Amino acid sequence: ARQPYDENNIFARILRGEIPCRKVHENAFALAFHDINPQADVHVLVIPKGPYVSFADFCVDAPDALVTGFFRTVADVAQELGLVESGYRLLANAGVHAHQEVPHFHVHLFGGHALGPMLV
Ligand code: 5GP
Repeated sequence: ARQPYDENNIFARILRGEIPCRKVHENAFALAFHDINPQADVHVLVIPKGPYVSFADFCVDAPDALVTGFFRTVADVAQELGLVESGYRLLANAGVHAHQEVPHFHVHLFGGHALGPMLV
């Protein structure tokens, strides 16, 4: 029951190299890059290489190797950015109530300073 995927959403265009990004990490499964409007000292987005709108679409419809490779990449990026010891926060917005703006599944990675309490 995958939602229709808009091939021209901004993250699809970043994946195709049509729009530049500040790349942090790239492999066969995922691309990680700095958020253009950072909400923390470190604010990185990690997106899978595939046409998945939401967290659920990704987890249900993506091949097992992609799901595994994607989430391992999130962990690798946190490690490479030196956030493991200090700590960090992951967030994924899904759908209207969560104000998901870009219809390509992504995980936000926040860190670099002591974060406030999670408000919601
Ligand atoms: P959402 O609300 O969909 O979870 O978050 C989308 C995120 O993408 C926002 O934090 C926003 O700042 C970021 N973003 C939107 N457009 C671009 C862009 O063109 N480049 C980058 N690097 N980030 C973007």
